[in-house]
Amino acid sequence: MSNIEIVPLCDAIGPMGASLRRPLPETFPGSDALWERLRRETPEVFGPDGEWILRFHCFVLRVPTGPTILVDTGLGPEDSPAASWAPVPGVLPTALADMGLAPEDIDVVVLTHLHSDHVGGAVAKGEPVFPNARHLVQRAELDWLESGGGPVLDDVVRPLGPLLDPVTGETTLAPALKAVPTPGHTPGHQSVVLGDMELVVAGDVVLHPVQLADPSVGYIYDDDAEKAAATRTALLAGLREHDGVLAAPHLPAPFIRVLDAWTSGDKARGDV
Ligand SMILES: [Zn+2]
Repeated sequence: MSNIEIVPLCDAIGPMGASLRRPLPETFPGSDALWERLRRETPEVFGPDGEWILRFHCFVLRVPTGPTILVDTGLGPEDSPAASWAPVPGVLPTALADMGLAPEDIDVVVLTHLHSDHVGGAVAKGEPVFPNARHLVQRAELDWLESGGGPVLDDVVRPLGPLLDPVTGETTLAPALKAVPTPGHTPGHQSVVLGDMELVVAGDVVLHPVQLADPSVGYIYDDDAEKAAATRTALLAGLREHDGVLAAPHLPAPFIRVLDAWTSGDKARGDV
């Protein structure tokens, strides 16, 4: 058993903004048959109009006599690129302070991917928020963002400058802790794996409980839906096999023991 401490920090809670909001069966292709049950059994992910309520969690991993690692940086300030669709500002800086951490204390930031709600908190007023941290990102993710351009590139990633540390493939963060590619949602998406899948901080591999019910259920904003489904299916199968814990930013709870999830075991797909 690892003695790495893992602390979830809630950066924000709220609905997807109007610019990206679609009816749920459209947002999650292939999910039509699942909503009645989800509304009954996971009411906390639905708003008053039935809309999706997202949590935006980040995770701090404290390695004894090793680095302090932050996985994802949340939405960021009022003028973050996430403002176009998400409930900015995020409160991550306050949450870190509440646990006794100054921005300077973060040694490594792992960016699961370069969407605005995961990287938006890395820069404020044009300056890096975590000045002593190397910001680990997959090279494939950076290439993808650079080929498309946009405010995340210009306003967040470029200002990180030399703090950005592009890597390819698996990266060891500490003994029994590594970042591994989990592509599909974005081309260079990565997750943080503890031990033998004791726990996986999985970014947007799984976004909604509907994808625990059926990992083949897609997400309209996945870059490669087929690859994303394959990654999700394999990751959830691995967690089940090892009785592991899923830590995913947008799920209703920051830690979900996959074997206990309402959607797993004998209640898994086929039973809905
Ligand atoms: Zn996200």
